[in-house]
Formats: sequence, C-alpha cells, structure tokens
Amino acid sequence: MTLVVVSNRVARAKPNEPMTGGLAAALLPVVENSGAVWVGSSNRVRDGSQSEPFARIESLGKGALALLDLPAAHYGGYYEGFANSALWPALHSRPDLIRVSQDDYESYREVNSFVARALMRFSKPDTMFWVQDYHFLALGGQLRELGVEHPIGFFLHTPWAPHSVMASVPHHRALIESMLAYDLIGFQTEEDCGNFAGYLTLELGLPVKNGIVHSRFGLTRLAAFPIGINVDGFAAQAMRAASHPDVSRLRKSLHGERLAIGVDRLDYSKGLLNRIRAFDRLFEIQPSLKRTVSLLQIANPSRGAIEAYGNLQCELAQLVSDVNGRHGEVDWTPIRYLNKGFSQTTLAGFYRSAQVGVVTPLYDGMNLVAKEYVAAQNPVDPGVLVLSKFAGAANELTTALIVNPHDIDSMARALGMAFAMPLPERRLRWEAMMTKLQAGNIQNWFESFISALESAHEMGRAAS
Ligand code: UDP
Repeated sequence: MTLVVVSNRVARAKPNEPMTGGLAAALLPVVENSGAVWVGSSNRVRDGSQSEPFARIESLGKGALALLDLPAAHYGGYYEGFANSALWPALHSRPDLIRVSQDDYESYREVNSFVARALMRFSKPDTMFWVQDYHFLALGGQLRELGVEHPIGFFLHTPWAPHSVMASVPHHRALIESMLAYDLIGFQTEEDCGNFAGYLTLELGLPVKNGIVHSRFGLTRLAAFPIGINVDGFAAQAMRAASHPDVSRLRKSLHGERLAIGVDRLDYSKGLLNRIRAFDRLFEIQPSLKRTVSLLQIANPSRGAIEAYGNLQCELAQLVSDVNGRHGEVDWTPIRYLNKGFSQTTLAGFYRSAQVGVVTPLYDGMNLVAKEYVAAQNPVDPGVLVLSKFAGAANELTTALIVNPHDIDSMARALGMAFAMPLPERRLRWEAMMTKLQAGNIQNWFESFISALESAHEMGRAAS
C-alpha cells in the first residue's frame, strides 16, 4: 500500500524552526516512520506557465515530501480568503468574522482541483489518499471526478460547528455534499462528528445510522479519532532541553518566581485576551502573588494579512501593556509577552520550567500544546494544566483544572488553585493524564485511521 498524505502546510523545513501548527507537528513523526508521501504547499506560488506542479520532491525519513507551487492567481482567494476567512471562523463558531467573495470561493475550488490533478502522479493501483483539514474539503470529490477509485480518507483537525453556524458559510451545501466522496471522514471529537451528522440530516436530508451515510457517491463512514502526540519522544526532548541556552536563560531569570506558560498561534480562537484578563484578575484578588508568579505568553503571529488577526495583535499588545503597567514593579513584570515562535525542542524545555500550563481556547479542535505540556513535565514534580472545556483535549485530559474561558473570575480562581496545588494532588492528576496520552499516542491515531479507512472502503465496495 502506498499512502499519500495531503495537507496545505507540511512540517517546517529545518529542525530548529517552529512548527507551522498542530497538524504539521502531529504528522511529521508518523509520516517519517510510515514511508508515506506527504504532499503540501512549498510556500511559494507559481504563474500559469509552468507545466510541472511540484517544486521539489525530497526524502523524509522512510517516506518523501512532495512540495507543490500553488497557482499565484488563486492562492490569496484560497488561503486568506475562503479557507481562513470563511471556513476557519465558521468551524470555530465565529460566523460574525466571515468575510469572503465569490472569487474567493472559486479560487478555493481551483486550488483543490489543481492539487487533485497534481496528485494523479501518485495514483497507483495500491494507493490510498489521506486528505487533511479544511483547506481541502472539496479535494475528495475532485479526485473522484478524475476517476480515482482508491480509498480516500479525510481528517478534520478543527472543530465542526453546529448546523446553524456551518449554514452561514457561502456555498456550504455544494461544498459539504462533495465531502461525501470520502470513504471515511474523521473528527477530533464525538461532538464534532455529531454536529457533522446533524448538518447532513438537517440540511441535506441524509440520515446517518451507526456512523454511516449513503449518498450519490456511495457509502461514507463518520467517526472520531482524537489526535495524539509522540508522548515518549516529547518527554525525552523536554528532559534534554534543560541545557538549551534559551531554557537556561529563562530559568536563571526567574529568581525563584513560579511561572505559568501559554503557547499559541496568535489567533482569535485561542482565547488570549481572556487569558490575560484572568491574570489581571488574579493579581487583583490575590495581590500576594505579585512578584512570586508570572506568565510567559508566546504568541506566534499567523495569517497576518487577514484583518481580524491584525486587529487581535494590536488589542493583545495593548492589553498586556496595560496589565504590566498597572501590576508591574521596577524589578518584576507580570506578563512576558513574545510575538515570535520557538522550535519544539525549546518549547519542551519551557514547558518543563513552568509550574502551570495555561491553555484556554474559546474553541479548539484538539490543542496539542495541552498534550505537549503534560508530556514535558518532570514526573517527580509535575506542573498543573489549566485547560478550557472547549478544547478537544479536555475530553481526554479530564484531570486538568478545566475552566470556562468566558468566565474570567473563575479562570482567575483556577490559576490561583493551580499555583497553590500540593505535590500529591499534582502527581495524581498528572499520572492520570499521562495514562490517557499514552493510550492515544500519535502512532495509534495514525494506525486506527488507516485501518478504518481500509474497512470503510471495503464496506463501500461491498455495498455498491
Ligand atoms: N509550535 C511551535 N512553535 C511555536 C508555537 C507552537 O513549534 O512557537 C507548535 C506546538 O509545539 C504545537 C503546534 O505548534 O505542536 C500548535 O498546535 P496546536 O494544536 O496547539 O494549535 P494550532 O496552531 O494547530 O491551532
């Protein structure tokens, strides 16, 4: 079997660069070990005159990385436009932020069809395609139009919002109906899967029974496959990272102060403003914590060409400055705010240096940072995870301190509890989380998706 994995972005080019996001971080180790071909954007665009869509194909572990130059005329409408200004806000239940044109939709379809045609190069009798994420909802349908009869699976890394929200996406019917060309559609949580099934029933009149739906394409299976991380690899990386220069500088700078850490792409779904407000509130309700605790917030800029992201960056910088201005002292800064990314090795060392991990998205498909923070802890003195109930990870990491990111006061109280938590309780909670992480590690996720895709495809053939 030849597996072809498709995503918009692939892993970072060099080991010391930050990951482009959770998808790339999660897929890298499994692609390296499986011998799959990973197809994605080269981060460069092309004009219409080149006949070769691939910029380069290089080896990646036992597999290969095949990088596409996407068409220049459609890239903006596809990426900043339809994918990130219609689908992303809707999937994260922010339909108020949808800003797209008809051209954006057409560009999205054009890029999906360009990628489908490029993929034909890898279409051999034993090929299996596995499409990743909201950039390529239409890709399966376009592969079928090109005559592909192989198994084609799809995994959504984001949440899937309720029907009423998804119905606010322009052209939602055509787009979502075309997803039924996939043999298997995987979601992060049962709730996402249920929302998708609800859409099919309410909007398209297609009943879903035992996770199976029949459409003009044949049979499609829907199921949840919560994504994991390479737990042992991350733990080992965190142990080694203590000697990393950035990590030892951070530790030296603390002078016994206890640290909370937040690591996010700068995105409105991550709940960054409310997190900073919760720290503001914490220093108001527990002034004794001033000078003894602080927050290191890494906010890696992303999608800066989109207005909502630019606005958030300004608002966040202003809020951090206001909180630091009011609570700070000549020799103490409550919030260290960094607008840049770090390699995962450095992050692993930062996580292990922090007594509290703060992950408070308003909505998040999974949130790998939450899992990485847990895996990076020192087993004899583990830190505490404060986790939003709206992150997919909260379904598994139930012994984290679970918070509602819209309730600033209760978040502030949870942060106070996290800093005060005695060692025996920290250990119990952490061990329970590690057990869950081990059971759902990335290798298991990968294998269970692939075997479900094989059987969904077989089931579809038998039924037709
Ligand atoms: N990440 C990184 N450097 C940074 C910030 C984040 O390598 O400066 C990685 C992080 O380790 C994690 C991923 O990016 O693996 C973020 O994934 P998550 O699921 O938390 O969020 P996403 O960005 O996919 O929404």
